[in-house]
Amino acid sequence: MVEWLRFAPPASSNAGAMFAPKPVDGLIYSMLSPAFYRLLQCPTCSSRDLYVEADGVHCLCCQTVYPFGDGFVDLMPRTAAFGYVSKYVTEEAEMAEELDYRDLAPPLLAAGVRERILRRLLRFRPSDIFLDNGCGNGRFGVWYAPAVALSVGSDPATLYADEAKQLLALAKADARRLPFADDVFDKALSVDVLEHFPLDVIDDYLRETARVLRPGGRLAAFSNTKELSHLQAVIDASKRLGQWFVNRGVYDFEREARRKSDHVKALPTYEDVRAAMERAGLRVIEVRFWNTVVTSFVEHVLMKLGEALLAHKRRPAQPHTDHGETHGGEGTQREIVARRRIRKQLSPRSPVYWGLYLLTSLMELDVILWGRLRTGPYFILVEKPR
Ligand SMILES: [Zn+2]
Repeated sequence: MVEWLRFAPPASSNAGAMFAPKPVDGLIYSMLSPAFYRLLQCPTCSSRDLYVEADGVHCLCCQTVYPFGDGFVDLMPRTAAFGYVSKYVTEEAEMAEELDYRDLAPPLLAAGVRERILRRLLRFRPSDIFLDNGCGNGRFGVWYAPAVALSVGSDPATLYADEAKQLLALAKADARRLPFADDVFDKALSVDVLEHFPLDVIDDYLRETARVLRPGGRLAAFSNTKELSHLQAVIDASKRLGQWFVNRGVYDFEREARRKSDHVKALPTYEDVRAAMERAGLRVIEVRFWNTVVTSFVEHVLMKLGEALLAHKRRPAQPHTDHGETHGGEGTQREIVARRRIRKQLSPRSPVYWGLYLLTSLMELDVILWGRLRTGPYFILVEKPR
């Protein structure tokens, strides 16, 4: 017997969260929130004739079954073949460890600056249906979930944080063929995504994001061009100081280098960014550049020194892995160990938390003071015309 959506969301959880399979009348049903279900369309044939059974979401039109995963629905298109595949998908197991994705820290330091600026640009309303397109572990969706009616995360790699599985509606999806109907989202987010894609994928990604936004809906993006800052000399001074410590073996930037290893930056200038938005039918509302004067000093010197100190304090601690082996070199491991150690001290509003909070505010000054001065890292707010 086909069991159409059995909606029994516990009152305490977010309206959009997925519900783990649980026994109802002696049978196991995977449950999907009605709010999330209403957004969906078949990514393979674009039909909206979908229904839900215990094994997943079914398309009446093309008969595809999209199974439930651990806290998400696998909504990858089944027939499309794409040329480009992100390394987060091809090297998922390896990246899993390096990204250290399971536990979420509060939005602090560079992530905190992004969180604050993007929140301000998007001006959430309690009724908003929100999509983080390329959500990674889902941290932005988690941070913004209390401000919106429904927080949705979409990513082809399923390295979702535990909290994201509880608070977000998560779709394993390809951004070139999103599993959502036209005009359903009020706000969308794109953080650290565009710099990874070749130009044709950027165009598809933005066109799909525009399609699922309602007219008047807005997308806020954070990415990087190849432009240099007028304040580059000051920024480079911090990097040189950082290099001085690297040369003396105090720390290294191995993890950063690996993270940036697949940056394509197919939009080399801000004009290219504008043009790409316009090709997708998105109108530019506002842009803020991030001249990383304070930020560079914090990231290249202060934090790295702190990490080196913390990681060396107790040497034998190796990060726990599911596979019993570790990937990445010593620098990566040291950083992961230090970050975990810091994270343990972050709750409940500890002195460490407030110290990092203060540093975050100092880093944010880079955007507030020099936001009009062009450079590589940028925040952009665009709108789908009404
Ligand atoms: Zn279909």
